[in-house]
This record gives sequence, structure tokens and C-alpha cells, in this order.
Amino acid sequence: MKVIAVTPGKVNSVRLIELPKPDLKTNEIMIKTIRVGIDGTDREINKAQYGTAPVNEDFLVLGHEALGRIVEIGQDCNTSGFQIDDIVVPLVRRPDDCSYCLNDMQDMCIKGNYTERGIKGRHGYLSEYYTEIPKYLIKIPKEITDIAVLLEPLSIAEKGIRQAWNIQKRMPWEPKNAIVFGLGAIGILASFVLKTLDLNVYVYSMESETDPKVKIIKSADINYISAAEVDMFKLPSIVGENIDFILEATGNSSIALKAMSLIGQNGILCLTSVTGGQNKVTICADCLNLDLVLGNKIIFGTVNANRIDFEKGVEHLQLYNKIHPKLLDKLITNRYKLSEFKDAIENFKGLKAVIEFE
Ligand code: BGC
Ligand code: ZN
Repeated sequence: MKVIAVTPGKVNSVRLIELPKPDLKTNEIMIKTIRVGIDGTDREINKAQYGTAPVNEDFLVLGHEALGRIVEIGQDCNTSGFQIDDIVVPLVRRPDDCSYCLNDMQDMCIKGNYTERGIKGRHGYLSEYYTEIPKYLIKIPKEITDIAVLLEPLSIAEKGIRQAWNIQKRMPWEPKNAIVFGLGAIGILASFVLKTLDLNVYVYSMESETDPKVKIIKSADINYISAAEVDMFKLPSIVGENIDFILEATGNSSIALKAMSLIGQNGILCLTSVTGGQNKVTICADCLNLDLVLGNKIIFGTVNANRIDFEKGVEHLQLYNKIHPKLLDKLITNRYKLSEFKDAIENFKGLKAVIEFE
């Protein structure tokens, strides 16, 4: 079968290779890939800034935003609730033996020996077939098959927002607004989730007002503020009230740092950008510290997602599919054949690229 692989640590090593179709163990399910989304992490791995091969192997099969169809079920999985032809999305991270991982919270792993399919120490889903145990599969209702390749990036947004709302149970919090930084897939999906919470939602990003992505969020009643027109530090006056929640998803650590000084009284900032570089900035440490202290403010980072975040994501995809039919489809801007994998990974300019297997 065909797979797309890289040699971690080697720049632009992405290539198509042949591997034998995996054997199915009795406790596993065989999945045939429908399509796989490509994101910044895949591109960073191909630029040799991130990613590791499985132990004792010198290549890594890429891909972690997957959608597939069940084609075979191991005999011990007959009561797993999955059937042939079910559509599924697999989770990304697999546990080590830390206390969080042992409690199915590998997204909160404390030892760091977890693996991630297509990213860290375990082959991914850019593969015609793969096997997985039922525990790591999410069943997809048929009516959202077309958009469910967005579930993995959505799960990242879901986890960040879930945690922020949990943390804020420290007080009777009544948020009125939220700003998302960044008009990438995670930023847009996060703004959609925030909209379901009855907030005034803004997205702030560098694209101009005429960018097609801006049209997508505006049709869901989300406000857009372009960094080309409005300086970041003017945001509080534009929002016109205390900024309650910021989710940072620009991939830029300087912006993340600036966002720390924009969050309002009792507010909370969620950081999601995985920044592999060595970017340095100078800040007024006293100012930032004083502001956080006097404002009872919270800053937290979030990575990966729990099964419950994928499940919440399925609910939100179903909801958006009903209230804004065909809107989420527009986020998938570029579709590539397997043979065009280089275009999807190396010279890509759109919002979300997917590689089609069927
Ligand atoms: C993936 C996460 C993963 C993170 C760090 C992201 O692109 O969506 O599942 O945990 O990278 O490796
Ligand atoms: Zn762990």
C-alpha cells in the first residue's frame, strides 16, 4: 500500500513509499483512509523542526487529521459498537504509564513519553490502510462525513475552551466577549465554538477585510478586525468592554506575548501555538507582572485533546451543519490527490489542504 513518509530531522524529505498492508490483530479494527488534513505541524516536521520516527525505524508516516471507513473488525472487537462501513476519526496521542495517561488523560501527560500518530514516535494516517484499537476511534454520524476531517483541529479548540471555562469556575464568571487571534483552521473553528456560547466573538488577524476566510466567519455572525487596519493595543477600545477571553492561534510567540497584556480583569488567555523556533523579544517584565497580579488574570497553555473534546466537536459539527449548511465545507480550500502530496505539504497557500485517498 502507498504511504506518505518523512525522515525526521531531514529537511523536505517527504515522499511516497510502498509498505505492506498492516496485519489485523484480534483486538484491532482495520480502517481504509478517505482523506487526511495537512496542518502546520506536518509542514514543520517536513522542515525538520519537529517530529520523531518510531523506535528503531528511520522514517515516520505523516498525517494526524484523518477520516476513514472501517473495512475489517478483529474478532475481539465484535462488541465494541463499531461496524463495517462506519466512518471514523482516530485520536492522535497514545499514553505512557504516568498517572494522567493511566486515567485516559494522555493529552495531559506529565512524563512526556507519550507517542502521537504521525508526529512523535508512531506512524500516522497518510496511509491507504491502518489499524487501531476501538478505544482511540470516534464514530462519525454519516451526515457530517464531508466536514469531519476538521474534527481533529476542532478538538484542539474544544479542549482549550473547555479548560478555560473550567478554570473560570473559580468565580461567578459571566463572560460577554471573546477574541481569537489568527485566521487559520484552529482560529476559525474556535470562533465557531465560542459563538455557540452566546458571546460577542471577534477574530483578529493579519488578513485584509476582503480575504475569503473573513467572509466565512462573517456569515456566522463573527466580527473580524484586521491587523492591517487596527493596532493590537487598540483592541480593548474597539471591543469597548473588559476583554474576557482570548484564544491565541497565530503560530507566532510574539503575538502570544502581547496577548498577555490585552486580557481584561478576571480574564483568561488560552495559548495554542506550537512554536518550534528560537524567537526572542524584550518586554517590560514589571508592567506585565503587575497587570496580571492586579487583574486576577490567567494565562494557560493547551495541547492535544481528550476523547471528550472530539465528542463535543462531533456535536458542534452537527450543529453548524444544521444552522449554516455548507459553511464548514468552505474551510477545506484545497483538495489534492495522493500523487500531489508535495503541493499539499510544501507549496501551500490556502486555509486547509486535504489529501484524498478515495
Ligand atoms: C496536533 C496535536 C498534537 C500537537 C503537538 C498538533 O498539530 O493537532 O494533536 O498534540 O500538534 O505535537
Ligand atoms: Zn503520560
